[in-house]
Amino acid sequence: MIGVFQLLGLAKEECLSCGSKFFGKDQGFICDDCLKGVKPYRPIDYSHRLSYVFSYRIYGLYEGTLKHLIHVIKFENSKSLALLLGNIIKEHLWEYIEEIDPDVITFPPLNLRRFWNRGFNHVEHILKGAGVPCLSLFTRRDLAPPLARLNKEERAKAVMGYKVKENLVDFVEDKRILIVDDLLTTGSTIQRLSYLLLSLGAKETHAYFVAKD
Ligand SMILES: [Zn+2]
Repeated sequence: MIGVFQLLGLAKEECLSCGSKFFGKDQGFICDDCLKGVKPYRPIDYSHRLSYVFSYRIYGLYEGTLKHLIHVIKFENSKSLALLLGNIIKEHLWEYIEEIDPDVITFPPLNLRRFWNRGFNHVEHILKGAGVPCLSLFTRRDLAPPLARLNKEERAKAVMGYKVKENLVDFVEDKRILIVDDLLTTGSTIQRLSYLLLSLGAKETHAYFVAKD
C-alpha cells in the first residue's frame, strides 16, 4: 500500500530532525535514518545530586533527534512514536533495571487537564514500547497549568499536588521503586515523588530519564 502512495507521490513527509523527505509508515515526523541514529550518550555527568533519589540514569541529552522525538510525542500526541522511543531505549533501560532490581516501576502522573487533552500518558507508552511492566502509583489533585509555563516558585507549589493513590499507600512500604520520566530539568518533580514514596515507607527510590535538558 505504501508503494502505491509512493508512486502517486503522496504521503511524503519532511523529517523534523534532518529535513529530508521520507515516507512515514506509522508516523510522519522523523525518518528511519534519524531514528536509527539515536544512541545512548556517554559519558553522562552524574555529579548533580538529586535529593531523595538513591541513583539515577539518563539515556541521552535533550538535543537532536531525541529532542524532536520527545517534543513530538508530547505536543503532537504521537502514541506510535512513544512506542518507538520505548523500543530505542529498551536495552539501556533494561540494563539499569537489572542492576537495581526494583520491586515496582512507575512514572509521574499528568495533571488532569493534560491527560484529557492528550488522552494518554506518554511515559507509560514509552515503557510499553520498552516492554517494561509498570504500575501507575501517583495521582494529581490539582488542575495546574503545565509545569513548563510556571516560574520556579509556582512549580514548587504545583509539585505539592502529587499523591500516591489511596489504595496503593500500604503497597509502597518496603519497596524498591524506580520512577521513569522523559526529561530531567530541575529534578524537582522526581525529588518530590521520591520524598513522597520514602515518607510512606518505601525502601529505595531510583530514577531513569530518557533525556537531560
Ligand atoms: Zn531524518
